[in-house]
Amino acid sequence: MKKIAVLTSGGDSPGMNAAIRAVVRKANFHGVEVMGINHGYEGFIEGRMDLLDLGSVGGIIQRGGTKLFSSRCPQFKEDQFQYQGIEKMKEAGVEGLVVIGGDGSYRGAMELTKKGFPCVGVPGTIDNDIPGTEYTIGFDTALNTVIESIDKIRDTATSHENSFIVEVMGRDAGDIALWAGLAAGAESILIPEEAYDIDEIITRIKRGEARGKKHSIIIVAEGVMSGSDLAKLLKEKANITTRVSVLGHIQRGGSPSARDRVLGGRLGAKAVEVLLEGRGGRAVGIKNHQVIDYDLEEAFTKKHKADLSLYTLSKELSI
Ligand code: ADP
Repeated sequence: MKKIAVLTSGGDSPGMNAAIRAVVRKANFHGVEVMGINHGYEGFIEGRMDLLDLGSVGGIIQRGGTKLFSSRCPQFKEDQFQYQGIEKMKEAGVEGLVVIGGDGSYRGAMELTKKGFPCVGVPGTIDNDIPGTEYTIGFDTALNTVIESIDKIRDTATSHENSFIVEVMGRDAGDIALWAGLAAGAESILIPEEAYDIDEIITRIKRGEARGKKHSIIIVAEGVMSGSDLAKLLKEKANITTRVSVLGHIQRGGSPSARDRVLGGRLGAKAVEVLLEGRGGRAVGIKNHQVIDYDLEEAFTKKHKADLSLYTLSKELSI
């Protein structure tokens, strides 16, 4: 291959820029040119791209978001638009593509690969919900943002003797809630992977109160219910008053942590290696500290499993 392209798609995440930088520099190291496609698959369909040289990816490693912009592009699910994009790439001499994104973006990458245009997927999402890799780029930064916020909430919760519900992101995965809950010492954590027991949550709050505890922090993953619905439930069932904080999109932003920068660098470089070996239809990831590649289809046909030993542990540590 003489020329490849890179795009970012779906929800953005901190560390995507580090991955773009690694794709460009690793390819250039091997004498391969890289085109940066703007606005995800929308730009792919229209062939909207610019040459990324060594200098163009300087000064971005510390920046959140994505230099290449991201988008959701529903029409890309249709074959005709996929073929249209492939034609645009062929006209420009582009022979393969690195897709940085989540499982939706991976589906698109697999469709292109099946149509003869090789793609490799790099896991970029704060949700940590891609099967086959233990960590995704952006998860660590999001976690740090969440625990920093919870620490601040705890200060005011203690001063006013309030209990707080903190709603965090994660779509259908509980990883952010689980890790942040453990890291911030939350009293209760609600995740989509485990059925919650409202009576148990009430008992925990009351047991804390009886022990002289002035406040509780309850973390609810957005995939379970909204923070305000949980507040209503606690009010109705046990007359417990809580304040609700929805952290929202701050979880997606910010300068990437060291861990996400290193992960972005390692996985971006690996994706280029796999693509240059002519192995399209692969995803890259991290397992037992080792960089791996595996069948792209596995990443969206298998189900992501959160580490539920953390759930058990958090219960043991917050009695
Ligand atoms: P994420 O990649 O973060 O999971 P989405 O699920 O929104 O985000 O997917 C991002 C984009 O990937 C979609 O807007 C669409 O362009 C493309 N995509 C998603 N599913 C498919 C599919 N089944 N076939 C082709 N492209 C898809």
